[in-house]
Amino acid sequence: MGDKVMTIVQGALLTTGKAKAVYATDDPNVLWLHSLNQATALNGKQKAEISDKGRLTTQISQQLFRFLKAQGIVTHFQQAVGERDVLVTALDMLPIEVVIRNYAAGHFATRYAVPMLTPLSPTVQEYYFKNDALDDPPLNQSQIFALDLATPSQLTQIEAVAQTVNRQLGQLFEAVGITLIDFKLEFGLDATGALTLGDELSPDNMRLIDQATGQSLDKDVFRQGTGDLRDGYTTVLHRLTTYLGE
Ligand code: UDP
Repeated sequence: MGDKVMTIVQGALLTTGKAKAVYATDDPNVLWLHSLNQATALNGKQKAEISDKGRLTTQISQQLFRFLKAQGIVTHFQQAVGERDVLVTALDMLPIEVVIRNYAAGHFATRYAVPMLTPLSPTVQEYYFKNDALDDPPLNQSQIFALDLATPSQLTQIEAVAQTVNRQLGQLFEAVGITLIDFKLEFGLDATGALTLGDELSPDNMRLIDQATGQSLDKDVFRQGTGDLRDGYTTVLHRLTTYLGE
């Protein structure tokens, strides 16, 4: 789909996370991400091997990154190099998880005792410190600055990009009969210092509800043990591919 084709050689394994293995390449500005067939929840306390999951998350993420790139969002996505392998721009990641919520769910619903799926106006934006040992505690703006996790201008930019991503993804999912409930983004700086959307965009880090059936099409199915998450992920991928093309 018009991605620039590069010849890149996979290098050493740099790190293995909960859902991905990260490899170096022969270009220091490019990383090779390999999605694992693994699902985790509760900060890794709940874990399972699920065949084909890596392909599904990679393909969905690829569709969403390409879509956002086409809308002018600066992202790390460069090109696919296999069913569950992609090349991305190497980023110096900010240790902040940005959560956007259009409807109450998950922690927001329980923490504030709001009925599930209550519409939220304005859209809620939250920050968490990406730190497994501390269980990703919440952050506000002054905490982010005092801890030197981002500068005020970076945070202003993050907020603007997150709102645009929410609008664009919300419209895209609406067009395929899916409601975007909430999602998480992560940002980093590229070699020139440009703020860039990184990480992954898949039902592993967003809540999606099928408008026709009210069914959850995301990782909540795994978190709550209510079925096979691959069913929902397959539906999401199929609808996106039908709408956006291969
Ligand atoms: N999320 C994520 N990684 C995290 C925490 C949350 O991708 O470490 C996503 C999650 O999938 C959901 C949104 O962020 O789409 C909001 O999650 P919430 O804070 O409600 O936490 P949860 O109840 O999912 O643990």
